[in-house]
Amino acid sequence: MPGPTATAQSRQQAHARRMSKTSSSSSGIMTTTTNTSKSSLDAEKEKLRERNIEQVIFGNIAFKAWYPSYYPASVLMEGGKSRGEGDSIEVGKGIVVPRLYVCNRCFAYGREVIEWWKHVRCCERENLSRGRKIYTHGEEGAWTVWEVDGSVETLFCQNLSLFAKLFLDNKSVFFDVYSFNYFLLVYTPPSNPAKPQIVGFFSKEKMSWDNNNLACILIFPPWQKKGLGALLMAVSYEISRREGILGGPEKPISDLGRKGYKRYWGGEIARWLLEVRETDRKKGRGMVDVESISKETWIAADDCLAVLREMGIVEKAGRGKGTVERVRIDKVRVREWVDRNKISLDRQVDSNGFVEGYAERKEVVGD
Ligand SMILES: [Zn+2]
Repeated sequence: MPGPTATAQSRQQAHARRMSKTSSSSSGIMTTTTNTSKSSLDAEKEKLRERNIEQVIFGNIAFKAWYPSYYPASVLMEGGKSRGEGDSIEVGKGIVVPRLYVCNRCFAYGREVIEWWKHVRCCERENLSRGRKIYTHGEEGAWTVWEVDGSVETLFCQNLSLFAKLFLDNKSVFFDVYSFNYFLLVYTPPSNPAKPQIVGFFSKEKMSWDNNNLACILIFPPWQKKGLGALLMAVSYEISRREGILGGPEKPISDLGRKGYKRYWGGEIARWLLEVRETDRKKGRGMVDVESISKETWIAADDCLAVLREMGIVEKAGRGKGTVERVRIDKVRVREWVDRNKISLDRQVDSNGFVEGYAERKEVVGD
């Protein structure tokens, strides 16, 4: 069971570097091969997506892995034996690990159940929380968000990334945790405050040249379809609003991510549009420019326009003054879209739930 030791850490970093090399070279082959037919490229792609781990035991819950992950050779090699430094894990070899045990507190992992239990018992005793609490959702305080610095809690963030990769079909460079912060969504049962559970997270580049407010987002499978992804998305947007940076999630977005964002963006935009009176015209049609929607919802104009089109609620109305794109919005159709997709118009995040002053841009006084 890898623990937070310096050797385990450096071994894993070396491994991570190897993996990022492996994945970039394989994608290089895929893009530069000209004689290969499309179907064999697809087959190759499909092979790279083949799962190598069948099932994870996370705390006391078992569920299937969806995609391959890049756990080190000690886990993925046949019989758990690494042939030594330089071993690289090839994906596309099918299932090699029927069951992987993962600690639901620190994401340490192993194939042996007895070792794992020893670890869990000792990990539970430590009872440590990661990073600092930045947000509390609702009055009961059962849902909280914690910020963890990848360069401080390196092994924890690497183990979290390895686990997350089992459910994410993207991101080749997944192990550079140093330049990211991780925001953990934690559920603390009011009846059992000693058992907080991390149910998902998003990562964010500390310095993003593209103004990305989120790199990866995942709600772990047992907690999906409860609207928790929307809560994390809303937290990421509220943070960027506080920072005064207008941005969005890193592109390309996975299929699952796109579905989630479409609902989140659509809901935020719909709430604002339905509240706005000045677009009212007869039959609920009104003109509004995309910049205003973006300014009010803090969703980048491109993302606003894309989702408005996908929602099928806009007619192009040409450009307003200068280069501002204007669209004609039909409120009746907005309402229909909301009902059809069962979108909640409640606010996803309570800005008062953040710790005081969190991420707020400091005003520079004088020169
Ligand atoms: Zn642990």
